[in-house]
Amino acid sequence: MAEQEERVSHFIADMLAQDLSDGRHAHIMTRFPPEPNGYLHIGHAKSICLNFGLAEQFGGVCNLRFDDTNPTAEEVEYVESIMADVRWLGFDWGERLYYASDYFGQMYEYAEALIQAGKAYVCTLSPEAFKAYRGVPTRPGQPSPSRDRPVAENLDLFRRMRAGEFPDGAYVLRAKIDMSSPNLHLRDPAIYRIKHAHHHRSGDTWCIYPMYDFAHGLEDAIEGVTHSICTLEFEVHRPLYDWLLDQLPVPCHPQQIEFARLNLTYTVMSKRKLLELVRDKVVWGWDDPRMPTVSGLRRRGFTASSIRTFCRKIGVTKTESVTDIALLEHCIREELNVSAPRVMVVLDPIKLVIENYPAGQVESLEGVNNPSDPAAGTRPVAFSRELYIERDDFMEDAPKKFFRLKPGQEVRLRYGYLVTCTGCEKDPETGEVVAVTCTYDPETRGGNAPDGRRVKGTIHWVSAQEGMDLRVRLFDRLFQVESPDDTPEGGHFRDNLNPNSCREVVAKGESVLASAVPGTRYQFERNGYFIVDEKETLPGKPVFNRIVPLRDSWAKKHQG
Ligand code: ATP
Ligand code: MG
Repeated sequence: MAEQEERVSHFIADMLAQDLSDGRHAHIMTRFPPEPNGYLHIGHAKSICLNFGLAEQFGGVCNLRFDDTNPTAEEVEYVESIMADVRWLGFDWGERLYYASDYFGQMYEYAEALIQAGKAYVCTLSPEAFKAYRGVPTRPGQPSPSRDRPVAENLDLFRRMRAGEFPDGAYVLRAKIDMSSPNLHLRDPAIYRIKHAHHHRSGDTWCIYPMYDFAHGLEDAIEGVTHSICTLEFEVHRPLYDWLLDQLPVPCHPQQIEFARLNLTYTVMSKRKLLELVRDKVVWGWDDPRMPTVSGLRRRGFTASSIRTFCRKIGVTKTESVTDIALLEHCIREELNVSAPRVMVVLDPIKLVIENYPAGQVESLEGVNNPSDPAAGTRPVAFSRELYIERDDFMEDAPKKFFRLKPGQEVRLRYGYLVTCTGCEKDPETGEVVAVTCTYDPETRGGNAPDGRRVKGTIHWVSAQEGMDLRVRLFDRLFQVESPDDTPEGGHFRDNLNPNSCREVVAKGESVLASAVPGTRYQFERNGYFIVDEKETLPGKPVFNRIVPLRDSWAKKHQG
């Protein structure tokens, strides 16, 4: 990774350090194991930063492994987007790209070995009966009528399952563990099922597929993973993970470690729900700038480093919690405040006419590109008799504390002159203000009065003649409630969508923006951070996405 980010310390890092110093392991191997059934989201980014980050920190390696054991939900498009996203986040799996489907042959052998050892059987129970027999944690379950089927019969049936003799659901292969365990996952879990489905990689070679719990530990062991890091909901699966690896002649026994998943306010993170939003065209696609997907955040204008910073700040714990999305916004703001060039854009334009400025005259002023980076230099900004300003920077009947334009008040035009408001022009029919008028003081070029008189307000502006029209999309949160997954009885998470999550305006911007390069981020002075959209921008016609407004509610809340 380009910048050396500070070493992180948390309970998992401590465990790995201990394992290395005890000699339990000579090298660390982690893995990031996405199922290619959707695009990656910010929660996955946490897992990626954790797994690849630990490998980096301890001089080990991290595998990218597609856990592609469920053919019906998986697609090549997802595989490709996942690789692009991991790379974009700044991580490199080198040669270590793996697919669970490449192990189907080995997994099948392991399943036969389990049958041979009398530790797995082919079961005829329907899914409903399976559940009923399994029972509840407080009382022992009931054994399946197939539980004591002889080994030879199990082998024969399993081979015929593989040969395609039976329809979906006719049989499952179950591990024979303990029907009275308080842990339901140990009550003879299903490990193979019949599914006549085409697989995006193995094609039609298989019509039986391993279940997640059976497959995952084997994948880890086959690759030689030392630490298999997953989210907390798998804690109750760990005894099964260990049981399977203990029964089978696997090359090693990785250690499963659980951590709390990332949850974010105003966000749904389940792939099923994100897929629904995409499929029903509630959003433009997986990379809609309002989506919590890595591709959505990228298109919105978030940088990879801001996401890594965020993942470092939230830390790694064993306690479930919900992170304020304002923290993510804080991370990109902190970064862009230092790096983004400034430019003036008026989002809700109204004309300002400078009555004593010569018509037809255009003057070139100097705009500072980045106040925190003198090397960024300055740019010429055209000034003329007619400008655009923000509609809400003028108020006809303004309160005392309104320091922007109101009749009789003097304000500073950024990089320009001091002007005094003289009034406004209205549409005679609607009474709507159509232009604001003022006079300027020619002695105040650059924004300061020679007599030292104080002016409180500074507003941004764009020359009416020289400025250009810009398509600007003002994004807001996709959901209007903090916990969009919570809905009243009979409700649906989509009831919580924010109907105003995207508003497009035609803004007026400095003419330098005509050559804005797609992917470039700017601070529109007083209005926030914006990126030139890479998909919709045409030569000379930039389209902007608002990344975040300027106001930082996280920093305010957590000050001092
Ligand atoms: P979903 O439950 O929405 O389908 P998933 O967790 O099943 O998502 P996977 O593709 O299996 O999706 O996830 C790949 C890896 O990312 C897993 O190791 C998983 O633990 C981790 N992961 C997924 N969501 C989060 C999250 N919100 N926070 C941290 N890690 C996550
Ligand atoms: Mg999963």
